[in-house]
Amino acid sequence: MHCELCGKPLTPDTAFLARIEGVQLTVCPACATHGEIIRQPQPARKQQRSEKPRPAQPLPRKEIVEEIVHDYAERIRKALQQDGRKLDEIAKSLSMKASTLQAYEQGRRTPSLDDARRLEHAFRITLIEKIEVTHEPVSERRSTASTSTLTLGDMVTIKRRKK
Ligand SMILES: [Zn+2]
Repeated sequence: MHCELCGKPLTPDTAFLARIEGVQLTVCPACATHGEIIRQPQPARKQQRSEKPRPAQPLPRKEIVEEIVHDYAERIRKALQQDGRKLDEIAKSLSMKASTLQAYEQGRRTPSLDDARRLEHAFRITLIEKIEVTHEPVSERRSTASTSTLTLGDMVTIKRRKK
């Protein structure tokens, strides 16, 4: 791409579309000042758009989350061994199904918070840990679909500097 007036090489950053002496030409910035600018270089405009001030971001939210410890099976197994009773009896005393308790003990199923609390109470063990979770606000990504369409208001007229 070259300036149609002076022949200087042009990049998309420097190519103006200007009306000079009634003719539409792709010109360099220097030559553009001789006429009426119809379109400014495109990429430069896009950059300006992304710098537009954004609405205030929400602050990070903090939340306490209760979670079952990762080694719950081991803790339950130990507790059951120390108890010495049969699994059926223990399950019954906890108003829990024996199969459910077994699944917990074998790590096949993560205890519900309700069940975990009952087990904690019965065996004086810890199965629930409290975790502080910080929610970082995700910055919204604007789609690049919005093309920079020039309106009449975007047009810039440069005063002729002819003497
Ligand atoms: Zn030129």
